[in-house]
Amino acid sequence: MALLEDLTKQLEEKEERMIEIRRYLHAHPELSFEEEQTAAYIEEFYKDAPIDAIQTNFGGERGIVVDIKGNGDGPKIALRADFDALPIKEETDLPFASKNEGVMHACGHDAHTAYMLVLAETLAEMKDQLNGSVRIIHQPAEEMPPGGALGMVKAGVLDDVDAVLGIHVMSSMESGKVFYRSGETQTGRAKFVMKVQGRGGHGASPHTANDSIVAASAFVMNVQTIISRRIDPFDTAVVTIGSFDGKGQFNIIKDAVTLEGDVRAMSQSAREKVEKEVRQIAKGIEEMYGVTVELDYVNDYPVLINDETVTNKVRDALVEAQIAEVTDVVEVEPQSPSEDFAYYLQEKPGSFFYVGAQPTDKDWYPHHHPKFDIDENSLIISAKSMAAVVASYCG
Ligand code: MN
Repeated sequence: MALLEDLTKQLEEKEERMIEIRRYLHAHPELSFEEEQTAAYIEEFYKDAPIDAIQTNFGGERGIVVDIKGNGDGPKIALRADFDALPIKEETDLPFASKNEGVMHACGHDAHTAYMLVLAETLAEMKDQLNGSVRIIHQPAEEMPPGGALGMVKAGVLDDVDAVLGIHVMSSMESGKVFYRSGETQTGRAKFVMKVQGRGGHGASPHTANDSIVAASAFVMNVQTIISRRIDPFDTAVVTIGSFDGKGQFNIIKDAVTLEGDVRAMSQSAREKVEKEVRQIAKGIEEMYGVTVELDYVNDYPVLINDETVTNKVRDALVEAQIAEVTDVVEVEPQSPSEDFAYYLQEKPGSFFYVGAQPTDKDWYPHHHPKFDIDENSLIISAKSMAAVVASYCG
């Protein structure tokens, strides 16, 4: 374990820098698919690092892929960190709060990038001790479908890679703990937009019109039965109608309305089932109310399925590493948000795991909240945890 001991020592010496980088990135957030300065910052960071290759604008977006080649013919593993932010006006009073008004690192991707940069540099400096090679994937646009991962996967970012790994820091999970899960871990997602076209008319003469609000309301009520009557009670799915643009005037029968829906599912079969049922109910509404329905249903991020072998290896590496700052390594329950890391896992075996980042000295807020913040201890824990996994593959 000489490799891991050396890595750990180096990372400890660089902890302050990791925090500085995170704070800089936090103050300079950029939206998905617009991360020009962040990508430039990442590229600049590697200027003097002894890496073997760097590719920018990977996949036609702003992805940056860095290769670190060790000695020997050990495995090639890929480590992914995302770097986009969200359209949220920050409401923390942090001295390094967002300087880009209306944009905020409210999901911790600043932390992902900070720990990964320092870890990558350290691995590059110690590459003579690596048996195998490491590919660092700096990924843009996790927050915005179709997501940055898809383009990078299509452009071949995982060609020749044996396993792919990623960490998410979590404000909802206790700081000091690291969490893993194998199998179905985060939901797959779909989004739909549906236009119900009726026939407008005078509120006093409904028989000469065809009310789109009544037809669309029947759709809203009927989709509620998908989860209760069509999904296996031991499976998990959600259908939410988040938008219904029915605003008009009291004496005018609405000509058309547009609805938007959000679908989450924890298995491929539930995902397919929900889609089939939404389509069927939409068609039924046409038949029943004599309206025309246009349905645009798009599946985006898949169900995130962690490979069991890789996840067991991650867990064992984390436990054996006995990381000083880590109080426990525990299995976590499934997580309802969706994550485009799922695309990498469709391509190669891998594992996406979580580092607890709940602030210990103040209230915590969920991800995507204007007051979101993390315990910065999660940076060194993330770096050391991923280092332990690297050492278990390439030590
Ligand atoms: Mn995220």
